[in-house]
Amino acid sequence: MAKTEKQRPLGICDLCSSQMPTHTVKGKIRRYCSRECRNTANSRAGAASRTRKLHERIAAGSWVNPAMLRPPTSAEQAARARKGRLREVAAGVWRNPALSEAARAKLSRPRKHSGALAEAMERLKQPGVGMADLTPPQQDAYRAYAREMQSRRRARWTDAERAAARKKWREAWRKRRTP
Ligand SMILES: [Zn+2]
Repeated sequence: MAKTEKQRPLGICDLCSSQMPTHTVKGKIRRYCSRECRNTANSRAGAASRTRKLHERIAAGSWVNPAMLRPPTSAEQAARARKGRLREVAAGVWRNPALSEAARAKLSRPRKHSGALAEAMERLKQPGVGMADLTPPQQDAYRAYAREMQSRRRARWTDAERAAARKKWREAWRKRRTP
C-alpha cells in the first residue's frame, strides 16, 4: 500500500491538529501526535477498502456472520477482554483500574462491615468459595445479613412487584406439590 504524505505542517497532528514534537527518535517525520490518533487515522483510511471487500464477500455468498463462527458466550467474551488487556500491556498503555481517581476514592472509604461478616464477604468473593467453606460464625453473620438485606428489599417493593412475587411463589409451590 502506498504511504500517504504528511498533510498538515510539520509539528501538527494530521488527525486532531494538536501541537507535537516534530521529530521521532529515529528522525522520521511524525504524522500523528499519539498512538490513538495514528490508529484512528489508519482505521479510517482503510474503512473504504474494508467495506468494499465485505460487499464483495457478501455478493459472492462467502460471508458468514462472525457471531455464528464464534457465539458470544460469556467464556468467549472473557477471553476477548483478556486479549484486549494483554494487548494494552504489550503496548505499554495498560493502567491498573484500581489506581484511577474514582477507584482510589472508593477503595479508601472505611469498611462498611466488620468482624465475621466482613470476613465472610471477603471469602465469598473468591472463585469457588461457597457458604460451606465458611466457619459457623461467618455463616451465621452472613445469613443474618442476607436476611436483613432481603427484608429491606421487600419493604421497598411496589404492590405490582409484591403481586408478581406472590404469583411466582404460588406457582413454585404448586409445582412442588404436583410432581
Ligand atoms: Zn492527534
